[in-house]
Amino acid sequence: MVECECCGLKEECTQGYIRKVEGEFDGKRLCGLCLEVVRDEVKKGKKQFVEVGEAITAHMSFCGKHRNNNPATLLADGLRQLLRRRC
Ligand SMILES: [Zn+2]
Repeated sequence: MVECECCGLKEECTQGYIRKVEGEFDGKRLCGLCLEVVRDEVKKGKKQFVEVGEAITAHMSFCGKHRNNNPATLLADGLRQLLRRRC
């Protein structure tokens, strides 16, 4: 089990997957949802975020603000945000 360093969501991951995520995201362990959001930020915003680390920091502060919500709410919010961006 791996705990997301952003939102604290626990996910079951293989060692290979964890290493891949850590390699891509500055050695951070992120859940699938946070990973998608950060990846999205980096892809769309070269002006906003110069590097992955900045996007992660920004997303971590976003998650931190919502930490008091229960994980289900957090997940729903994240998904909604993600879907809005995809449209
Ligand atoms: Zn997360």
